Amino acid sequence: MNIQDSIQALRDELNVHNYNYYVLDNATISDYEFDLKLKQLQELEEQHPEFFDENSPTQRVGGTVTKNFQTVAHEYRMYSLDNSYSKEDLVDWETRVQKVLGNVELQYTCELKYDGASISITYENGKLKRAVTRGDGFQGDDVTNNIKTIKSIPLQLKGNYPPVFAIRGEIILPFAGFEKMNQDLIEIGETPYSNPRNTASGSLKLQDSAEVAKRPLECLLYFVTGNNLPFSSQYEGLELARKWGFKVPVEAKLANNLQEVFDFIDYWDVHRHELPYETDGVVIKVNSIQHQEELGYTSKSPRWAIAYKFKSEQVSTKLNSISYQVGRTGAITPVANLEPVQLAGTIVKRASLHNADQIEKLDIRINDTVFVEKGGEIIPKIIAVDLTQRPANAEPTKYITHCPECNTELVRSEGEANHYCPNFYGCPPQIIGRIQHYISRKAMDIEGLGGETVALLFNNGLVHNYADLYELTVEQILPLERMAQKSAENLVKGVENSKKIPFESVLFALGIRFVGETVAKKLAKHYKNIDALSQATLMDLVLVDEIGERIAKSVIEFFENDENKRIIERLKSYGVQFEIIEKINPNATTKFEGKTFVVSGVFSKFSRDDIKKTIEDNGGKVGSSISAKTDFVVAGENMGPAKLEKANKLNIPIISEDDFITKLNES
Ligand code: AMP
Ligand code: ZN
Repeated sequence: MNIQDSIQALRDELNVHNYNYYVLDNATISDYEFDLKLKQLQELEEQHPEFFDENSPTQRVGGTVTKNFQTVAHEYRMYSLDNSYSKEDLVDWETRVQKVLGNVELQYTCELKYDGASISITYENGKLKRAVTRGDGFQGDDVTNNIKTIKSIPLQLKGNYPPVFAIRGEIILPFAGFEKMNQDLIEIGETPYSNPRNTASGSLKLQDSAEVAKRPLECLLYFVTGNNLPFSSQYEGLELARKWGFKVPVEAKLANNLQEVFDFIDYWDVHRHELPYETDGVVIKVNSIQHQEELGYTSKSPRWAIAYKFKSEQVSTKLNSISYQVGRTGAITPVANLEPVQLAGTIVKRASLHNADQIEKLDIRINDTVFVEKGGEIIPKIIAVDLTQRPANAEPTKYITHCPECNTELVRSEGEANHYCPNFYGCPPQIIGRIQHYISRKAMDIEGLGGETVALLFNNGLVHNYADLYELTVEQILPLERMAQKSAENLVKGVENSKKIPFESVLFALGIRFVGETVAKKLAKHYKNIDALSQATLMDLVLVDEIGERIAKSVIEFFENDENKRIIERLKSYGVQFEIIEKINPNATTKFEGKTFVVSGVFSKFSRDDIKKTIEDNGGKVGSSISAKTDFVVAGENMGPAKLEKANKLNIPIISEDDFITKLNES
């Protein structure tokens, strides 16, 4: 096969895998294999730029930066939809439709109304040409580069597609992906996004498409438009679009009369909560394209379609009190404590109030009767106050000025939504939160120690920071609630094992604000060890790929703090990894043949066993004690004085870990 054919074969294969995974939700190869093939394709494309294709699967990672999105006119206008809120509204709509069509037999396509941002994507000869936002319906923004990063959108169509057409759909963020994004933000002490819809539409206008690529966006398609299209009804259009490779939700259904439309609505009014994404209604479309053409459009919307909006589930209940939670980074979140009430199948007792602005905006007061709604978020929210029920003596809510946990005066920086407790080192929930972060799975992954035990240890005065964990003894923890010999031993062992966790995870575990997992990796790779990182200036830091000023400032602040310095010194002394471990030469040689080494002491980069194994892999012998036959002593820290003396007496060269690596790499 020639190069061009190999490249094409790889592209085709990767397109199929993308389709299986993102459209069908049915992967047929592992992520690892996929990445290997993608890398292979990337390399071939790099070596052969003459075969560049803007629709290659390699282009999905993004990387183009758009400062100003170009305004583009829609070839076919993007209309909005008329809304209806009751079945009577739908009966009226059908009457209007039949008046135009003359009482014909009608079928309807029922689809869910996906709640995101609408997009129109043009394809030419099976290739994605352009994607434009709705804008004002006549013209929108060209967001092609961003859209291409969304894996469920095909870059190359399959089957028997028309040469030119546009397809419309909704860019959405499924709940799971949205929650994950928020989890990641919370982890680095940032404010989470408020809802999936706004986050999805905000994503389309990000300047850096690589950022868009990281977001778990999806595109659900609902309408094909163009000239001479090969179908005569909406439903057929959906089926064909599916065949060409688009993600068209299978929930869409053909209804033979209005009663069947009602059945569809009733079913989804209940079951919509089981969908992985948000819907706020149903869209009903006259199925026949010929009928659609006869009906035409009003100045705003098609006469042949109508949206039915679900009533959002709302209840009213009393606000008993407001409490204030303090997070790991000191951010304060107000929480409404409600008179328990049934809502959408669960009992609601609490609702998030987000921040001071929200409370002020709603003018919410203790003892008010409030309306609570369950939207896309897991925690219900208060949408309004029932002013008719307000007690005469209700006082406006005064937001707290001091931390409810440590009584420190709160601060709120310019542009920040939340108040913060600045008592980073003395505020209990912040201390506990920081230790809980330190031990978490993606950080130091300490087995045998959970979040509740951390609180218990802190409350019993056994730990005040994460360095204290390394001094815990079985005797100290045994008297604690629910502790047995075995669990106490496991805890101590878990802490001990964390000394093997690599530097990049340690850096993440330290809990420096804005330093999430990915940033920690970048910093570790760049600086190699904590000393270099802690001495970096703002200028140095911002030059590192993907490190912005906000992160850089936070890193500097962290290392300037004396308490942090002390804690890091202590962690170092316990043997926690503060350096990237470089792999010892993995190739076996015979370069140490005939040489005997004695390995002694504690090493910072490699374990003693690694060094011994490397000696043997390279033909050397490892001796257990120093004698006249010893050729080298590889010495780490804390080598015993007796050994040292003996080596000196016998004139045996003592080499450090670094000398050893140099020796290994000498040719
Ligand atoms: P509205 O924004 O309330 O005028 O509603 C119209 C919008 O609903 C359209 O622009 C689409 O973005 C969106 N929409 C969501 N799901 C569908 C669907 N299945 N069919 C048509 N439009 C839909
Ligand atoms: Zn506090």
